[in-house]
Amino acid sequence: MIALARRYRPKRFADLLVQDHVAAVLRGAVARGRVGHGYLLTGPRGVGKTTAARILAMALNCPNRDPSGDPCGDCENCARIWNGSANLDVVEIDAASNRGVDDARDLRERAMYAASQAGHHKVYIVDEAHMLTREAWNALLKILEEPPPGVVFVFATTEPQKIAATAAPVLSRLQRFDFRRIGPTAIRARLRAVLDAEGIAADDDALTLIARHADGGMRDALSVLDQCLSLGEGAVTAARVREVLGLVADDLFAETLELVAERSPAAVFPLIDRLVDAGADLVEFMGGAGEALRAMLMLQLGTDPEGLTEGLRQALQRYRDRLSPGDLVRMLKLLTDSEAAVRRSANPRLVVETLLLRWAMMDRTVDLEAVLAGGAASPPAPAAPARGSAAPARRAVQSPAPERDTGGGGNRPAVAPPPPAGAPSAAASPSSAPLAELWPDIVAEVRSHSRFLGEALAATSPKSAQDGVLDVVLGEPNPLFAERLQTEARAVEDVIRRLSGQGVRLRVTEGSPEGAPAPRRLTEASLKADRLRGFRAKDPSLDTAADALDLEIVDEV
Ligand SMILES: [Zn+2]
Repeated sequence: MIALARRYRPKRFADLLVQDHVAAVLRGAVARGRVGHGYLLTGPRGVGKTTAARILAMALNCPNRDPSGDPCGDCENCARIWNGSANLDVVEIDAASNRGVDDARDLRERAMYAASQAGHHKVYIVDEAHMLTREAWNALLKILEEPPPGVVFVFATTEPQKIAATAAPVLSRLQRFDFRRIGPTAIRARLRAVLDAEGIAADDDALTLIARHADGGMRDALSVLDQCLSLGEGAVTAARVREVLGLVADDLFAETLELVAERSPAAVFPLIDRLVDAGADLVEFMGGAGEALRAMLMLQLGTDPEGLTEGLRQALQRYRDRLSPGDLVRMLKLLTDSEAAVRRSANPRLVVETLLLRWAMMDRTVDLEAVLAGGAASPPAPAAPARGSAAPARRAVQSPAPERDTGGGGNRPAVAPPPPAGAPSAAASPSSAPLAELWPDIVAEVRSHSRFLGEALAATSPKSAQDGVLDVVLGEPNPLFAERLQTEARAVEDVIRRLSGQGVRLRVTEGSPEGAPAPRRLTEASLKADRLRGFRAKDPSLDTAADALDLEIVDEV
């Protein structure tokens, strides 16, 4: 199945989401035959910079271009450029790879090759341009000072300030376009349109969660949606999105707010138990709790926070009068103090527990008027006494709270329940078999804690452990899998220790299948090697072209 991000990538200037200011200028330049020699496209990742560069290249080389300057999108030229496959006239360079930097140095010579046909333009697209070295920029500057006819350079970068630092003279020769972040509303609308085109239903909450996670990048949003679709049939639900993203269910945040509002430190321990049992990522939990506090603060200050799921919005409404803005600011302060610690700590659980305990036992903002009215040294009172029912200022620490029933209400946490006691794999004593043999059991055990983490692990194969480090190799590049395996390596390591008795540290790599010859040159490590080999297999003329140009073709998706 073709990835959604690829299938729905725009093919015409007219389709560039949110970036109409850029599209209008580039299209006009093509239509009037006034395209410049150098462009700089800046903006956050996944907002369409490379896509715009490819559309420009298509428009310059499309025999059926329409008078407004848009390429047809369908002819062979357009298709090849759009696919990022071999094309003599469009060269993509990933400056983030070592190879890319060398390629850029060689560019000066290469730029002298004319376009393959009269009337065509040679377009160089340089991604991650801020990674280019000073020498590479100097070589480029010489080309841009006397550009060969028909050659166009398009540089894309997320960090233009770095280019300003290393290559100010080049910058002055480039036309610069700043791409905008794509807002959550636009992302939701686009996801909805894609799902409609695919004939698939989805909850509003599900799309809200994806849009919030994507943080302005359409490509990330679509690849998360892809993962959700690959994980199951039927409508895309918020629960499935949480599973894919490792998000903590809203009701756990609601319970966190409750234990703070109720000042009940004893409720901290069972809550953390459930988080850990469910395989939740504690860093993610803290991030989510921070967002919830910020949203509550916004509500109290009269702004409507964007991107809230319905469940979280209700929880915030329920507790908004129990915590004052001052309390929330103090909680956020404590949270930021712990955030670095939780990433570093060998025991992140302890860090999160301590944070929640501090929240639950925190002195509340004293309402000065209430103190004056009620006599001098009253203990800290809950905020917003206006609401009546003032809870006792401080509760005695209770024995652990009774177990909460989370089954009811159809609002189940998305995280999987802990495995039943006595599940065979959990109970098994450590085996001395090699890890490769135990791998299926390890995967199954991990999956019983977190389905998505299990899927990610199932996509890997273990190499032999050396010096306590176990390399697991992802057969296919998958950034979401890689990220999850890295952030939850410890959970996997625990399972490995339990089932094999071996203490290893997990190291996740993305690799090409064993035995395949390494590509002659890499543009972005082995990630793209497979795809490239595929292209070559399909089109032998590509080998000749790649030899002639002495470079690999980068396929950026
Ligand atoms: Zn065309």
